[in-house]
Amino acid sequence: MKSLAILGSTGSIGVSTLEIVAAHPERFRVTALTAGHNVTLLEQQIRTFRPEMVAVFDVVDAGRLRDNLGADAPRILSGRDGLIACAAQSGAQLVVSAIVGAAGLEPTLAAIEAGIDVALANKETLVAAGEVVMREVVRRGIHLFPVDSEHSAIFQSLAGHRKDDVRRLILTASGGPFRDLSAAELERATPDDALSHPNWSMGRKISIDSATMMNKGLEVIEAHWLFDLSPEKIAVHVHPESIVHSMVEYVDGAVIAQLGIPDMKTPIALALSWPERLPLDLPPLDLCQLGRLHFSEPDQERFPCLALAYRALRTGGTAPAVLNAANEVAVEAFLDYRLGFTSIARVIAAVLDRHVPTPADSLTEVLAADAGARVSARNLIKSASGGIR
Ligand code: NAD
Ligand code: MG
Repeated sequence: MKSLAILGSTGSIGVSTLEIVAAHPERFRVTALTAGHNVTLLEQQIRTFRPEMVAVFDVVDAGRLRDNLGADAPRILSGRDGLIACAAQSGAQLVVSAIVGAAGLEPTLAAIEAGIDVALANKETLVAAGEVVMREVVRRGIHLFPVDSEHSAIFQSLAGHRKDDVRRLILTASGGPFRDLSAAELERATPDDALSHPNWSMGRKISIDSATMMNKGLEVIEAHWLFDLSPEKIAVHVHPESIVHSMVEYVDGAVIAQLGIPDMKTPIALALSWPERLPLDLPPLDLCQLGRLHFSEPDQERFPCLALAYRALRTGGTAPAVLNAANEVAVEAFLDYRLGFTSIARVIAAVLDRHVPTPADSLTEVLAADAGARVSARNLIKSASGGIR
């Protein structure tokens, strides 16, 4: 029986994780759950999974939950400290890090520092603080299991091979809902258009990241930290069917890939049970019915976010944390109809231009760069003279 703390349990990844837990009650026990504002769903999850500890964003929501649950209430905490306590002190053997954005960084790091294995969906943690996080992973000797489907595919394709024999990693990208739009059509794209992803059902922020292809940029940086490879050794292929989840090319020309239908339950389950595989009730991959799979180079002109991410990774230091924070602010503004779709990349580029990178070898440095980039991005979005809209 493995005990789990699930951070971000009301989100897309959190809910899928709990579905796996519910299907395998003999394998998993939930010790902690955390959520942002969806207290209604969290309350149902508490009644079903009976965690010992819970954290919500807002202290008022914590009080409401306590009242509603009465004598059945577990220990209910709130805010940043509550999140960190749930990550590090629930007695879990594995923390599922599925909060969206840099908000997931401190609790994820707290779990690692407490010596707990982590199943990482929250890619922003590695983008912002890859150096700090990986240093702690090594120092504490914990396992960091990738949940992101591409990184899970690479993790599987690397198993049993020598890292020195890797020529490059090839991350696949669906291309998102706007893959075939012209530059003029992208200028007019709305949040509703962007939220309807062809292959994957995901939270709002990652859906927009997928439409701009910043998601792939963040994943390139995530892959750099997880697999310790330079940006030159990480390529991206657009693959609209999302069947090949990613590949590893070796020095002898062999390419090893992992395939499956696009459903996050497969990589989540593997991160929960590695090296075992859990039986999942998913439709099988039918390659004969599919007939063909397509691959192409990403269009860096229509989707400049991917190049921005490579640029931040090559610059190093605090640049990726700044890229990530500017992206979070710009995506939020786009979702609120305060910024046009193509201006998301313009804001990020302008914030990166203004940033003087410093080493990102401490949490303090990373958080300061993140905060500064947020201010810079908000000012750019507000100022009509910025020419950003
Ligand atoms: P989501 O928006 O559906 O869920 C996010 C969860 O985090 C929710 O439980 C929410 O309440 C909580 N949360 C949000 N802001 C918070 C804050 N400030 N403090 C505390 N909790 C907060 O997101 P998602 O799609 O499940 O994605 C979660 C993470 O997993 C992201 O980093 C995303 O990039 C990554 N990921 C998601 C998918 C996917 O298919 N959804 C695939 C790969 C990676
Ligand atoms: Mg992914």
